[in-house]
Amino acid sequence: MTPLPHQHPPMPRDDLGYGAEEEEEEQKKSGASQGAKRRFDEFECPSCTAYNPVGDGFGNTDELVCNYCGVSFTALVDDEGRLKMKES
Ligand SMILES: [Zn+2]
Repeated sequence: MTPLPHQHPPMPRDDLGYGAEEEEEEQKKSGASQGAKRRFDEFECPSCTAYNPVGDGFGNTDELVCNYCGVSFTALVDDEGRLKMKES
């Protein structure tokens, strides 16, 4: 995970009093708000409970193989950014 510097999108803003922009910024701060687009860099094998770091990271529908027991899984990330592992 690379921390991003705080930045505003390079678009001209007209102050019409909308709160939508701020709300959006707020949601970006928590991983859960990324929903199904959330990325992970580790998973716990549901079969043998081994902890597997994933160097390149992974996200929804990515294939994963446990380094310890060799079982393969499909990563499923739901709308709330929760990771589920489905044996494939
Ligand atoms: Zn395993």
